[in-house]
This record gives sequence, C-alpha cells and structure tokens, in this order.
Amino acid sequence: MRVDLQTGVWTGEGVLTGRRTLGDLAHLFAEPPAETDRGQVVYETYGVPEGDHPDVLMATTVLYPGRVGAEFWMTRGHFHTNPARGEMCVTLAGSGVLLLADREGKVATETMGPGSVHRIDGAFAHRTVNVGVSPLVFLVSWMSDCGHDYESIERYGFPVRIGAQGDGWRIRGL
Ligand code: MN
Repeated sequence: MRVDLQTGVWTGEGVLTGRRTLGDLAHLFAEPPAETDRGQVVYETYGVPEGDHPDVLMATTVLYPGRVGAEFWMTRGHFHTNPARGEMCVTLAGSGVLLLADREGKVATETMGPGSVHRIDGAFAHRTVNVGVSPLVFLVSWMSDCGHDYESIERYGFPVRIGAQGDGWRIRGL
C-alpha cells in the first residue's frame, strides 16, 4: 500500500475506503442543509482494514471545504469507549480545527495545519472541522480495541460549534 502525503489518497490492494455526503451528515448541523446540496461529498477516508486481533491501525481523512450557513463542514466525531486508548493525528494539508470534548463537557480546540501533530486524549471525543478553502487532509493512528462510540455524539452532539467569522473561525455555543 502507498499513501500520497499531499492528497491523503491510499492505493494498493486491501485499502479500505469510506465516503460521507452532506445528506449523511445533515443532522450534525444547526441548520438543515438544502436538499439540493445533500449529494455533495463532505469527506473521504482511506486506511488499513482491521485484523483479527487488537492492533495499531492508520487512516487518512480528506475533509472538503464547505459550509452550511455559517457552520463549517466537519466529520461526525466520536468517543472511544476505552478512555485509556488515545489517538495520534498529523495534518498533511489544509487548515482546520480539531475539536475535543470530554463527557463532562470540557472543550478544547487545536489548530490544524500542515505538519501539526495532535495527541488526542482517549477521554475526549474528537471531531475535525475544515475552516479553510482547500481540502483538510490528516493522518490518524489508533489502537483497534479503542471502541468507537458515535452514538453519544448522534444523541447529544458536541457542546460547541465552529462557525465562520470574517476570514477566520470562532467557537459558537449550540
Ligand atoms: Mn478516534
């Protein structure tokens, strides 16, 4: 397998790919996206498939630039069910925000840009937000036995949203 470190695209046998459209993610946004926009691809993922025993995994995400109203396009985000299992993230291209929130509602943000390294505490839900005008490309690595809890985010969301302000971004309440 090979990964292009500019585009984040993996090639080779056995590469696992995923894709989320605005329709898939519509419920994440404060304002519902227009019906005509729902076919747009918000992000694509590439990575290695999970094996039959706990192991280190790696993937890239290509998160395209876009907004729904003032709110930037983002990934779903999730908690790890095992808070002792963190995750490493390296930004390859673009401009983004790593949004972190623990189960007590503590929030943190980290600025993502080419070469930025992010050590994600396993107790914090993580979501990425593209606040730029080009694809946000990042590489993540995690232990396969971390457990993924998407349901808490589906049910309660994140405590804050990332919205546009002028040429930049700001944290907004819900
Ligand atoms: Mn994770």
